[in-house]
Amino acid sequence: MWLYLDAQEDDDYQKLQGSHLGGASVRNLPPDHPAHCYKGVWDQLSTRQGSNGHFLLILDGARIVVPRRARKRILDFLHRRHAGIVKTQQAARQLYYWPSMSAAVSDAVEKCELCVAALPSKPLPSVLAPTMQAVGLDLFHAGGREPATTLSWWTGIPGTRSCKASHPPQPPQ
Ligand SMILES: [Zn+2]
Repeated sequence: MWLYLDAQEDDDYQKLQGSHLGGASVRNLPPDHPAHCYKGVWDQLSTRQGSNGHFLLILDGARIVVPRRARKRILDFLHRRHAGIVKTQQAARQLYYWPSMSAAVSDAVEKCELCVAALPSKPLPSVLAPTMQAVGLDLFHAGGREPATTLSWWTGIPGTRSCKASHPPQPPQ
């Protein structure tokens, strides 16, 4: 219910709703009208009235257009599981809409220490050669297969890779 109240107290939201209910076309509205931020989705909006008599805008019949003052709370709600940027954005897109919502979600998640700590280790900067980009190779033939002795220049860890010969072994001369 607080979303309805937030919408009620948000001047821009009220302007949006009034213009939408009145069937206004965005291009006929003054340049500083908040509807210009919604022109890409204007025809997909509808209005839902709550039991308290207040209204919310709905996108595509399902997503609540979130009033500005409620966005922080919605972000906190979406982010409560610390699921990372992609999953949080997916959840947001199912339920809510506001201009630049995806950017706001990534911003919130990027600033979260828990989410950052849960990320897989970031790749090393390219100037410090990643493990398998700098490998010493010593190939030798063994019956059609080419076991390769590898030595990573980055980790110094030796290894053996068995790989298919790219060409048949040459008969002895
Ligand atoms: Zn987080």
